[in-house]
Formats: sequence, structure tokens, C-alpha cells
Amino acid sequence: MSDAPEGWPFAEPYKAKMIEPIRLLPAEDREKAIRHAGFNPFLLQAQDVYIDLLTDSGTGAMSQDQWSALMRGDESYAGSLSFQELGLAVTEILGFPHLLPVHQGRAAEHILFRTLVKPGQVVPNNMHFDTTKAHVLNVGAQPVDLVIDEGRRAEGDHPFKGNVDVARLDDLLQRHGEEIPLVMVTVTSNQNGGQPVSLANLRAVRQVCDRHGKLLFLDAARFAENAFLIQRREPGQTGRTIPDIALDIMSLADGCTISAKKDPLVNIGGLLVVRDRVLFEALRTQTILYEGYATYGGLAGRDLAALAQGLRESVDEAYLTFRVGQVARLHAALRDADVPVVSPAGGHGVYIDAAALLPTVPRHAFPAWALSVELYRERGIRAVEIGTVLAGRDAATGEHDYPAMDLVRLAIPRRVYSDAHLAQVAEATRRIARRRETVPGYRMVYEAPVLRHFTARFEPV
Ligand SMILES: *Cc1c(COP(=O)(O)O)cnc(C)c1O
Repeated sequence: MSDAPEGWPFAEPYKAKMIEPIRLLPAEDREKAIRHAGFNPFLLQAQDVYIDLLTDSGTGAMSQDQWSALMRGDESYAGSLSFQELGLAVTEILGFPHLLPVHQGRAAEHILFRTLVKPGQVVPNNMHFDTTKAHVLNVGAQPVDLVIDEGRRAEGDHPFKGNVDVARLDDLLQRHGEEIPLVMVTVTSNQNGGQPVSLANLRAVRQVCDRHGKLLFLDAARFAENAFLIQRREPGQTGRTIPDIALDIMSLADGCTISAKKDPLVNIGGLLVVRDRVLFEALRTQTILYEGYATYGGLAGRDLAALAQGLRESVDEAYLTFRVGQVARLHAALRDADVPVVSPAGGHGVYIDAAALLPTVPRHAFPAWALSVELYRERGIRAVEIGTVLAGRDAATGEHDYPAMDLVRLAIPRRVYSDAHLAQVAEATRRIARRRETVPGYRMVYEAPVLRHFTARFEPV
């Protein structure tokens, strides 16, 4: 962010009351740990990790108000006070009249798709997140990604690389309208770097949906970060408040699936919210079947109470300025060190173009995987490969399904690490870049038939 308060360094708009010790293992112990883990960062023990940037999902720190809400949680089976409080927060922050709590984001996807989507149908999205894609496929439908072309490239400074290619959406609806039960848009788009969608683009998508009589749902795990990036980047939005922009985003949708482990600042939870009463009743039936009764949805009353408070805190501008700014500062530090990164910075993480950083590691030796292992060896940092290992094999040919980019994602947990921690990450990456020809590629020696990245084992080549 270029909004540094002239000359002053950035500081968190909160202070610590309780601390969790972390330690950097000596180099030889890190070597042993990663070898023991089959050179797979997922298989490391968390206490052997110094700075954990594996994911921003459920890894945030709750506030004192959330912890005290937790203590006041009402554990009544039906109609608990905590559910009523969550309802008020959903109305106030998201503007939806009907809500179903669920245990996490994918549960909302499961219930929405099994209710609305039939085998053989097509679901368009800017970019499906992996669980969303899996749930579309699970009901026998076809996911289609319609992000703008700029969103598929690492370079270029388009401010809204999550935008939907509206002409292609219109064309798809014209040709296959009957087979499309709903349109989805992911805010921000996780799959290509936490890239935001503009309000103008969402309005255009809404118009196309109206013209074709289609429901519009948002995959809104990071709606607040998206609102913040609209405020900072979209013409005409600068002077507006984050809650106003968030309500504008929501007003364009018929409903949302939300992983509350992201922007809503809780460690577990999810939401399915809708406007239409009849649709709500159909979704409620499925929620009771799969998640639990409709006023708790697989969560404890205290989880609902913490989520209600987290939703309110998620749109706080001081918090978002520090958080999204912190991501941008790490992005700038890496860019200044000539580390190739997906640009511009997104809302929740920095994505390194590992194939470009490590030209001596061929694609079949997994450059992004190699970089993720090297970050641990260099400084005890855990990151995640968003590349060939994650993509898996092509069902038809059995070959690796090489994605366009081989990326390492540095996902930043919310309210957990200071800029000093992230300076360690930037320095480690700089040092690896300086000795890049010493970084080995990897050979996969074990892989499971599905979701292989979680359990695969490797050897350096
Ligand atoms: C995390 C995530 C989900 C799935 O949510 P879970 O809580 O992990 O089940 C869906 N969509 C997006 C964009 C996400 O980031």
C-alpha cells in the first residue's frame, strides 16, 4: 500500500496480552525434520516450524472480545442466544436476512450445490477454489473458470485480477443457459493470488445474471479484504467506509458461501446466507440432514458467539490497513530483491513464481515444491506449493497436469505475525535466490491417488 503515514513505520492496531512461544530449530535439526517428513512440509510437526505461512485458514488470532464472547456462548440446542447474536451480525455486516451456520466453508458448498445443481450442469465462477471445484464435480456438474486473461499471468499490474470476463459469461449463458443453475464469483480470488473483484465488475455480472434469470452467489471467504482493495484501488470508492463497500458487494448477490476461517477471524466455522425464503427453507432441510440443527449447524454455541464478534471486527479499517498493508510490504520486499512474484499484491498472501526463480530446476523436478522445502531448510519457514504437485495427474493420460504457473504461496495468518517476522521470510527468500543454483529439484517417491500433495514423499535429485 502506498498509504504509509508519511515517515512513520507501520504498527499493529492492537497489542499482545498472551503470547505463544516459537523457536527456530538449529540447521541440522531442520535438516533431520524435513528429511523425516519425506521433504513434504505438510508432514512436518508444527512445533518444528519457526514461521508458519502454510495457510491463512483458521490460523488467525482472536481478540479479547471474541474470547469473552466464547465464554458467554449459549449451548442451547435450538434458538440459542448466540445464534440470535450471529443473525444480528449477519444482517448488519452482510445484509442477508437468512443464515445457516455450518462447520466450515466446504459444508456450505456441499449444501448449496446438492440443493441447486444437477448432474451434467455447468457452474461458472471467476476461479473455483479447490474445494468449490471438488464439490461441483461431486454432484456431477462441470466447473468453468471465467477470470479475465490478466488474471492468469504473474506479471502486469491490473488492479482487479479477480474480475470475471463478462463477455465470456454472457456468451456461455446464451449458449448453455439451460444447463447453468447459478453463477458464482469468488471474492477475493484465492486461486490466482488473493486478487480482488471490482464493484463495477460485480455489477456487470449481476446485470448479465438478471438478463438470463440466474442466481448469483459469492464465495465470500475474503469479502472484507476485497472491500478494502476496492476502497484503495477502484475509481470513485476512495472516500467510502469498508462496511458500506462490503454491503454494496453483498447487495448484488442472492447468497454467499463463506468460510469463516478466513476474513471472519475464527478458527472454525462457516456460513451459508441467502435472500430468498423458499430457497432458505430448501437449504435448511439439507443443513439439518448433514450439519446439525439449523441454529447451530455443526458448531458449538460459543463458536457462533465468537463468529458474530469476528464478523464485526473483519471490516475494521485500521485492522485491514495493517493486514493487507503487511501483505503488500512483504510483496514489495521480495520484488525489491528481484524475487519474481505475482503482482499486484493480493489480500492474504504473496505468491512466488518459483519456476522463474529457480531456472535450474526443470518443471518435472517441481521448482515450487523445491522452493517450499528450501524455505524450511533456510529459516524454518513453512509455505505451500500451488503448482504441479497440487494439480495432480490428468485423468485421461496419467501425466502430471502441469498448471500455467508453478507458485509458492506465503499465506499470512491474521493478527499473528509482525512485520519483523515477515522480514525474516523476505531475507530467507533473498538468500535462497542468491544461491539459487544450489537448490535441488525433487523426485516423488510416494503419491496417493487423490489429493497427493498432503501425503506425498520426495527425494532430492
Ligand atoms: C478456504 C476456502 C474455501 C473452503 O473453506 P473451508 O473452510 O476450508 O472448508 C472455499 N472458498 C475459498 C475461496 C476459500 O479460500
